[in-house]
Amino acid sequence: MFDSFWHDWSMRIDLHTHSSVSDGTDSPTRLVINAQDAGLDVIALTDHDTFDGVNEAIDAGRRLGVQVIPGVEMSTKVEDLSIHLLGYGPIMDNRALNDELARVRQSRQGRIPLICAQLREAGVDITEDEVIEQAAGSPSVGRPHVADVMVAKGITKDRSEAFEHYLLRGRPGYVSRYATPLPLAIQLIHAAGGVAVIAHPWGRHGDEVLTPTYITNLVTSYGLDGIEVDHTDHDQDTRALLSDLGYRLGLVRTGGSDYHGTGKPNNSLGCNLTRETALNELSRRVDGRLTRMI
Ligand code: AMP
Ligand code: FE
Ligand code: FE
Ligand code: ZN
Repeated sequence: MFDSFWHDWSMRIDLHTHSSVSDGTDSPTRLVINAQDAGLDVIALTDHDTFDGVNEAIDAGRRLGVQVIPGVEMSTKVEDLSIHLLGYGPIMDNRALNDELARVRQSRQGRIPLICAQLREAGVDITEDEVIEQAAGSPSVGRPHVADVMVAKGITKDRSEAFEHYLLRGRPGYVSRYATPLPLAIQLIHAAGGVAVIAHPWGRHGDEVLTPTYITNLVTSYGLDGIEVDHTDHDQDTRALLSDLGYRLGLVRTGGSDYHGTGKPNNSLGCNLTRETALNELSRRVDGRLTRMI
């Protein structure tokens, strides 16, 4: 009877999700339906290197009462290490940003035949056509699609095993690709009127290059806006350290599930959330940038 008294009135905000337009498994519409089922009020669609799913997600969100923020997760590099940058609220048809995203997508596509050739060399029966079919028209083809073919053919049990045995750096199917230098990616997001937040900065080797000194320089020299603190790739100690660093640098501290549908079973929608105050600060910064552009 007193349930409503204890109801958590704060908004549930998940700023990191993927659809089948990149390497998630839900269509943008299905993603929004699932977000509503998970009790989320706000999501950002942050597909890898493409905005192609955003308009569909926004339309679904209007019908279902879920606010959808336009986003992207850019593939960037620091010293040859892959770093992901989340961009929120940019003008999606900005020329310079789209030219750069297209360059990354082309490099994604171009490495697929090489990956398949190397895998065949290692005794894995896989063709480029199978991967393209698995990607089902995605403009942003990636290793997860290669992994999905291997799972479908019973070569590995899930995506993770395919990465660990065949697709990570140092494994037989690894082929590097072009990714945007991180400072340039921040500049491109800003020039398009958006805000830039480093995704899972200290997950998967990120801490080797994203030192506190380096992050400080990104803030002072490039105006980095935020860091994703709450993410499944960070343990509690890492989150505490990152949160502290972010606070000291005036960064917006966000959280997100990095939902990929069935592609990442541990990353359920809403498993990590962003505070309303953080979202408000991001939105204030986007408004500021757009005003300056007019
Ligand atoms: P790519 O974009 O082709 O370089 O592939 C990287 C993507 O694969 C990441 O964005 C993740 O979604 C996914 N990924 C990376 N490592 C793993 C892993 N160990 N298990 C499952 N998915 C992974
Ligand atoms: Fe992904
Ligand atoms: Fe990522
Ligand atoms: Zn992601």
